[in-house]
Amino acid sequence: MNAVNKAAPGDAAPLKFRSLGGWVERPADLQPSLEGHVKADVIVVGAGFAGLSTALELRALGAQVILLEQEFAGFGASGRNAGYLLGSMGIEYDMFVKRLGVEQATQFVRFYDEAVPYVEGRMKALGIDCDYNPSGVLRAGVHASQEKRLRENMALGQKLGAVTRFVDGAEMRARGIPPAFLFAAEQCGGTLNPGKYVAGLRRAAIEAGVKLYERTPLLSFSEGPVITCKTAHGSAAAPVMVLATNAYTPQLGVLRNKVAAIRVSAIETQPLSPQQLAAVGWHGREGIITPHYTMESHRLTAHGTMVLTVKKLGYAYGSKTPNIPDQGAYAALAQVLRERHPALHGLGIQHCWSGYVSGAYDFLPVIGAMGEQQNILYTTGCSGHGLGTQSYVGSLFAAQINGKTPELLTAMQHKTPSMLPEPLQWCAIHSAFAAAKLLDDWTDRKVRKHNASKG
Ligand SMILES: Cc1cc2nc3c(=O)[nH]c(=O)nc-3n(C[C@H](O)[C@H](O)[C@H](O)COP(=O)(O)OP(=O)(O)OC[C@H]3O[C@@H](n4cnc5c(N)ncnc54)[C@H](O)[C@@H]3O)c2cc1C
Repeated sequence: MNAVNKAAPGDAAPLKFRSLGGWVERPADLQPSLEGHVKADVIVVGAGFAGLSTALELRALGAQVILLEQEFAGFGASGRNAGYLLGSMGIEYDMFVKRLGVEQATQFVRFYDEAVPYVEGRMKALGIDCDYNPSGVLRAGVHASQEKRLRENMALGQKLGAVTRFVDGAEMRARGIPPAFLFAAEQCGGTLNPGKYVAGLRRAAIEAGVKLYERTPLLSFSEGPVITCKTAHGSAAAPVMVLATNAYTPQLGVLRNKVAAIRVSAIETQPLSPQQLAAVGWHGREGIITPHYTMESHRLTAHGTMVLTVKKLGYAYGSKTPNIPDQGAYAALAQVLRERHPALHGLGIQHCWSGYVSGAYDFLPVIGAMGEQQNILYTTGCSGHGLGTQSYVGSLFAAQINGKTPELLTAMQHKTPSMLPEPLQWCAIHSAFAAAKLLDDWTDRKVRKHNASKG
């Protein structure tokens, strides 16, 4: 499944594209695909963090659960992400306040921040060893001009209940953070191996008795008091369905006007030598993201490599999700690696990959119920920050299906703006990417100029 990709500028060897991402392989114990007709209390579609977590929480309440997955559990973004378990700090608080007002924005911040201890608790309860390092996460500026916006965003977050602190330059240097990162806002959380986390959820779900059908795409479903899901060789029926298909949801013909599938890319370096690790410092191995409009993420892994993500996003016409390389994005990330980590001069890139997240125009999660009976629950619109929240939503859905009314689910109801029809949507999203790139290029040029002036 690997293909050789064109070399990024400055890289001697060609980059190897991993179509399944850098963390997972197809499981050796692939679960059978669905044959014939089956029934349950709940059908969950999509086995990423959201689907697995929902299925597990429902099983714990005694429900019979069918989980349909088109490939294998962890095939989507859950097996391809950067592994940052991060609360609300990854979001732009001012956008949330403008759209929702202070009171409701506070509830969204609560949702993001409560998700961190929830996942930490689940890893312990389910015995999932996924190399979690509770180092905290730094949102770190690379140029002085980013400080004002970072501080303002942080102060607003604190007003909304987020627990963050400013880390000044002296502390950054004392902690051995790579010198490209000048100052930061810090929040609790950390980094983990998302492949191990999602595989742990999969194992726990199978052991708990969730009927997981892999290589079983949902093709269509009929609504009503009982929902019937059609697959290639069978069907499943239940009074409740949960759509946990995230970026793939528009392809089901659902929520097409609410979310778009956005491609996010990653590169992973060769393992750092002991000398390279010593040169980098970074003793706490904190996850680092930047306040660029299209952010960068930089982290070390437990197996001694460095993973960098984002910098350049992609959108395919009609919210399609082709599993193909994005050479421009890998080249941009390779350049980021060289510029932010000059101490690692010559460090090779092992491979690269891409995955899909879903985003609404207002960047807010899109969580709710639909159908005449309101018995189809959905969660999408993760906007690239779903490791915590897409896991946490499983516990809220399970409580709701069990007849409770989770306060947070109610508080997060809001009107998601409608997406434009194609080709206007393609134009709008690509224009937004271009505008973000202009602003980020401007910052990066200032950094280069500053570094050049230092010699
Ligand atoms: C490169 C990258 C870096 C990221 N970094 C981070 C990070 O560091 N921290 C963070 O919080 N978030 C990060 N994210 C986002 C995060 O990965 C997602 O928010 C999260 O994984 C979403 O989980 P999910 O279960 O909702 O969706 P997914 O993991 O995408 O799961 C959806 C599942 O549905 C299945 N499916 C789709 N259609 C069908 C169908 N018709 N029938 C059956 N099954 C179907 C898919 O195969 C897939 O397995 C990143 C994403 C990417 C791509």
